[in-house]
Amino acid sequence: MISVAVAGAAGRMGQAVCDAVGAAADMELTGRADPVLGVALAEVLDGADVVVDFTRPDTALQNALDCIRAGVHVVIGTTGFDPGPLADARPAEGRPRANVLIAPNFAIGAVLMMRFAAEAAAHMSRAEIIELHHDGKLDAPSGTAAMTADMMERAGGERPVIHSVRLPGLVAHQEVILGDLGQTLTIRHDTISRESFMPGVLLAVRRVGSLESSPVIGLESLLF
Ligand code: NAP
Repeated sequence: MISVAVAGAAGRMGQAVCDAVGAAADMELTGRADPVLGVALAEVLDGADVVVDFTRPDTALQNALDCIRAGVHVVIGTTGFDPGPLADARPAEGRPRANVLIAPNFAIGAVLMMRFAAEAAAHMSRAEIIELHHDGKLDAPSGTAAMTADMMERAGGERPVIHSVRLPGLVAHQEVILGDLGQTLTIRHDTISRESFMPGVLLAVRRVGSLESSPVIGLESLLF
């Protein structure tokens, strides 16, 4: 049984994660941290094997550093922060080693979209990305769009310009449009419901403790 605490438990994603963890036969929800609930992360670290963080860009790094210090593995879905300092983070004396897995998108379709876009970028001359999200999203461009652009650049393409749209009614959507002589190719992913992220989150919770190196960025490292 994996003991899981959720940071951001009262948020849109956090509530869905609490439900998914509660329904998983091999997991137990041991803590729900969120200012809205009046519960701090420090209060849920004891007894947790893994913390799942879906909070805010300005708190996710410190939360992850606190988890590592406490020797608790952490799965981070929060986007829009620089994870650089996590590479040097160490547990406090007497605490076990803790791993970090960060995924800007836990939906399998989005992971495939990024992979296909990177493959296409090597063969077409230009590309632009349009990412569209609900108007409660704090960061822009989205972590998915930034990671897509990184992957396309690494694959040999020009770094795509990213356009961000924030409107009520949207959940999470992204279109990668590639153009070349007399043709365009569009790769599009739509998240209709936050449930789409849950199989990826649960997979990450199951695997984060056995990562060979840390931090790992991207769900694809567990999938392919
Ligand atoms: P949300 O509804 O605003 O939820 C965030 C929650 O975290 C809020 O209740 C917030 O409380 C709470 N919080 C803030 N600081 C905290 C702390 N230090 N410890 C514990 N909880 C804290 O946001 P959301 O839509 O769920 O999105 C959360 C993050 O996930 C965003 O960065 C978003 O981009 C990302 N996301 C990632 C994926 C993925 O697949 N990786 C998918 C969807 C969303 P307050 O309201 O009081 O600040």
